[in-house]
Amino acid sequence: MTRPAFKRILLKLSGEALMGEGEYGIDPLTVARMAEEVKAAKDTSLELCLVIGGGNIFRGMAGAAKGMDRAQADYMGMLATVMNALAMQNALEQLGVHTRVQSAIQMDAVCEPVIRRRAERHLEKGRIVIFAAGVGSPYFTTDSGAALRAAEMKCDALFKGTSVDGVYNADPKKDANAVRYDTLSYGRVLQDNLKVMDASAVALCRDNNIPIVVFSIREQGNLARVLKGDGTATIVQEEN
Ligand code: UDP
Repeated sequence: MTRPAFKRILLKLSGEALMGEGEYGIDPLTVARMAEEVKAAKDTSLELCLVIGGGNIFRGMAGAAKGMDRAQADYMGMLATVMNALAMQNALEQLGVHTRVQSAIQMDAVCEPVIRRRAERHLEKGRIVIFAAGVGSPYFTTDSGAALRAAEMKCDALFKGTSVDGVYNADPKKDANAVRYDTLSYGRVLQDNLKVMDASAVALCRDNNIPIVVFSIREQGNLARVLKGDGTATIVQEEN
């Protein structure tokens, strides 16, 4: 499958990508491996924005299911994404990659606030900008945060790293006959409720014509391969 060349992308990783074999939390060795993947992608002379979820630490829905106030729990989830962003910043800087973290919840002592023009300047200077705290509001997810930042930073595509190598018509971990799509339309994803990203994130990408590339972050070197147009992935975009 040939894919268009991208100059600036947003990479979304779920928090689970940082927890390794554990059931929750941050595994420094796994973060270091992820940082190498990100560096390899950056080295293809891309401008790179990064969004990391918080599900390895706390999800608002899980708190709400156990009786917590949903908004309060969501704020805790957003704080979790800041911890992940700092962990990734540390790992990237240990590899010599310059980064800045910008949080949608202001936290002056640890990172910058989200300022689009400043983020633009960081990218021009070759830094990776890690956007933390999602959209900064409860009742959203980091998928929506990723779509929002991809739109405002005018990214050519949103790359969603997952544990499977694309979007299937059924869960490939449960159904041996599941078939992977090469391409899909936004409408199909929304209509069939395919688990790509949550609906508000997909709709935001559709409205701003941002292709969503779903690929596996588990295989070493895969992100860089997919960026070159090799490797296995599903691309969600407008139908021709
Ligand atoms: N969250 C939120 N608003 C946002 C982004 C995140 O309230 O804009 C909260 C929400 O509770 C969510 C948690 O932060 O469950 C962690 O993010 P997410 O579940 O998207 O992480 P991922 O599944 O990607 O690891």
